[in-house]
Amino acid sequence: VARRAFALLAAALVWIGLAAWAVHAGRPTVAPRPAPRADAQDPLAFAAPPPRWLAWVGDAIGRAPAPKSAKPAPEALSMPVPPSRKSAGEIDRSASPVLPLPAEPADPELLARAAARLRGGREGAVGPYRFLGEVAPPASWDRLAGALDAEYFERVGLAPLGAPRETVVLFADRARYRAFQIEQPRLAGLRAAGHTASGVVALALDADDAEGSEATFVHELVHLVNRRALGPALPPWLDEGLAEEFAQARIDPQTGRFLWGERRGGVRREGQRLETSGALAGLERLGRALASPAPPTLARLVALDWEAFVADPAELSYPHAHEWVDFLFASDPARAAAFRAYLSGIARGQPAGPETLERALGARLAELEPDFRAAALRGKARAVDAEIAALTVTGERVRTP
Ligand SMILES: [Zn+2]
Repeated sequence: VARRAFALLAAALVWIGLAAWAVHAGRPTVAPRPAPRADAQDPLAFAAPPPRWLAWVGDAIGRAPAPKSAKPAPEALSMPVPPSRKSAGEIDRSASPVLPLPAEPADPELLARAAARLRGGREGAVGPYRFLGEVAPPASWDRLAGALDAEYFERVGLAPLGAPRETVVLFADRARYRAFQIEQPRLAGLRAAGHTASGVVALALDADDAEGSEATFVHELVHLVNRRALGPALPPWLDEGLAEEFAQARIDPQTGRFLWGERRGGVRREGQRLETSGALAGLERLGRALASPAPPTLARLVALDWEAFVADPAELSYPHAHEWVDFLFASDPARAAAFRAYLSGIARGQPAGPETLERALGARLAELEPDFRAAALRGKARAVDAEIAALTVTGERVRTP
């Protein structure tokens, strides 16, 4: 009986092998999966070749010069307090817990240097913030800045300490902003559309990309609010993830409220080229990485220090942090409550490390990984892939960033 069973099994295996060969032989050749590079830092390097039409789309996106607004908030910097950038571990939290800080008025010396760079300056206010700029801030910024503390309280569950007192410095020209930025040694190496330092938010207004400029403005303000609500020594995934959560949400034009889950940016076709922009560009990049055989993990994300976070060569850290924070708020009410409890602990001086987060969520990050990936990929399918498919079929522009 054993010999007959073995013969049957062998015959079945041969048959399956032949059938597989026959099916394969009938198909057009498929490019072989590239061998993983031993030194690959970029998880996309491990990606299997996508189906043919997707490859065209992917290549088209990959080749397109990144739209200005598609840069994943490359400004990055924002965490103003040197100890937190050096190493949060050096702060002895048991001796003196790191607590939220009141608004920091602009450092006069820094403000003077900014003013010296500005071409003509108008002073005033944007919402509750002081304002100094080459041009008046867009009208929508007033409303956004004025409502941010309340919106933050509603989303995060924490009231920022006191009132805003910082100064927004607005350049009308990217090059002049850049000249100011590189004067500050810590920021010199970074590509940036905006940053915060010593009570100053500095950014450039891009006349061709009002939505991207608005996102940068909100992003930088949230760093200031994080400092007043959570404290000055947050891990980068949290500080940047929260900043992106607000910055990349669409704004309801009627009410001025944040539309959670609806992301800024879009997908558009220019001749034979498809461009993603804004948050959708990041989501597209992240989705491809998460679907690859070596996806970036949450454990790695939350362990990144500032230097590694900002310099991520694959430009995944911002969209990864954004989608993770969004997942914690939006995927499940009990999880959102646990996340808010974690945030409120940080505001009371508790450490923000991965152990505290896992304890608050009642799960290891590795256990949450499958749900998170599925949610991020669903988001990409809904927001990016569907639009790409529509554009590929009809050739129509369905949404302009
Ligand atoms: Zn930032």
